[in-house]
Amino acid sequence: MGTFDTGVYVSVADLGDFRPGVDVPYAVTYGQTIYFNGEFDYNPYSTSGLAVLTHELVHTQQYLERGAGGFLIEYIPQASLPHDERALEAPAIALQKLVVHMEAFRREDPGAYAMLYTR
Ligand SMILES: [Zn+2]
Repeated sequence: MGTFDTGVYVSVADLGDFRPGVDVPYAVTYGQTIYFNGEFDYNPYSTSGLAVLTHELVHTQQYLERGAGGFLIEYIPQASLPHDERALEAPAIALQKLVVHMEAFRREDPGAYAMLYTR
């Protein structure tokens, strides 16, 4: 689909059974590639789509820092935990939530949103 300046590649693929929920955008990251579950899920113009993209970009950074093997060695033992209890998910979830809050704020009051960046 496209490459960011950082070298992150966004791919839209049919992830089939990987989809964990219903009606939520979903993606999975391996190394510097983020796989979205179809065009519906790759939508950085929606709040939820932007939040998922942000979440996965955190994982690309984690892969960069650890290497693919290092990431998986650290992540796999956490895989049996609920998603939000995995240590590697915490920073991704935190940034995802921040994007949701910022988007909600911006869409209600664009002027107030701009103030965040002028101080
Ligand atoms: Zn994640």
